[in-house]
Amino acid sequence: MILPIVPYGSPVLRKTSEPIDKSYPNLKELIANMYETMYGADGVGLAAPQIDLPIRLVVIGFRPYDEKTETYGEPQEEHTLINPVILESGSEKDYFNEGCLSIPDIHEDVLRPTTICLRWLDENFEQHEETIGGLFARVAQHEIDHLDGKVFTDRLSPLRKTMLRRKLNDITAGKFSTRYRMKRKNK
Ligand code: ZN
Repeated sequence: MILPIVPYGSPVLRKTSEPIDKSYPNLKELIANMYETMYGADGVGLAAPQIDLPIRLVVIGFRPYDEKTETYGEPQEEHTLINPVILESGSEKDYFNEGCLSIPDIHEDVLRPTTICLRWLDENFEQHEETIGGLFARVAQHEIDHLDGKVFTDRLSPLRKTMLRRKLNDITAGKFSTRYRMKRKNK
């Protein structure tokens, strides 16, 4: 089931999310719905606060796009992160153009460490601890920010933030359009 995504300006995106345990109700179904919602919106990551649930749960996945047939292939590198913790960040940083399903039509270069040491529980509550890099590390850091009440525009320079203020205010006011389902105020 595709769930509506909450936009920038929603209080849940500013909350510190709570850890969960195995007793969390209907978790399997929730995770499946989060993957469906993410792929349905062409995203590569989705954090639970983005579907209005302040819990420490993230899904990440990449689907290769075939230009010839204009279809998506089987998802690759799917990662369900429950209660993820960044244990250490590498010293090397780089910029990468990020977007966010909660912040439609804004894409900005964000500076982040290229590698992190990450500890998390998977969907079976098995613990993993790995040093990760590449797109996985990038998306994981963006999504873990969501669990801590942060969004990627918070990480931009004061000048860029000023330049984006009107667009962000418009999103907060509900003035935006997306091809995927968003939660609207008073609905
Ligand atoms: Zn995001």
